[in-house]
Amino acid sequence: MSVPGLTYDVDAVVLDIEGTTSATGFVVDVLYPYSRARFAELLTERAGEPAVARAMAQVRELTGEPDADAAAIEKTLNAWLDEDRKATPLKSLQGVIWSEGFARGDLVSHFYDDVVPRLRAWHAAGLRLYVYSSGSVSAQRAWFTNSPVGDLTPLVSGLYDTENAGPKQEPGSYRRIAAAAEAAADRLLFLSDRPGELDAAREAGWHAVGIRRPGEPYFEQGVGDHAQAGTFDEITVSNSRSTS
Ligand SMILES: [Mg+2]
Repeated sequence: MSVPGLTYDVDAVVLDIEGTTSATGFVVDVLYPYSRARFAELLTERAGEPAVARAMAQVRELTGEPDADAAAIEKTLNAWLDEDRKATPLKSLQGVIWSEGFARGDLVSHFYDDVVPRLRAWHAAGLRLYVYSSGSVSAQRAWFTNSPVGDLTPLVSGLYDTENAGPKQEPGSYRRIAAAAEAAADRLLFLSDRPGELDAAREAGWHAVGIRRPGEPYFEQGVGDHAQAGTFDEITVSNSRSTS
């Protein structure tokens, strides 16, 4: 099944979620409405919690409205949701809502069929696996904990988002992740469906493979001049330096 050229000897694979491990449609059709229905309660009844208070302050700063109340902030969050804007406070508050929804059993995440078997095989072969998604770290943890086949977090060595790593289309974010993961740039492989993210990873010296799945938003556009695969089964990774 593996395509010549899609063979990598690396220490770690870094995974995008939406459009790469999982269907963007699931996030937009299931998770977005779930959070939209719960912002008001979070902003009014739990505004004193540090994570909520911090996100509310970030919204006020981003909109330049220092006196915005809970209703005004909710309106802003919903507008960002409509635009699919990856604003950090929106992602933080969604992370709170989703992790509780997953914990409660209201939500179960989605992974494409080829993904979990490959992640297990790569992990077993001594590769470290990391997640880098615009969804917050708490949402990522909930996503991997509550998969249809159970808890996948034992496979994952670390989680990165736009807060602890930075924007996904900036090479500096990939340098930050490499430093945190204590891996050389050329020992890292990034998998994503977005050409701008693949460009940034490559600029940081990483290997990068574009994942193109039918029905995903970037499928038609493609991944520019990056190597590409339709599923994880087309990618062969090994770690010649693994001791496991
Ligand atoms: Mg993506």
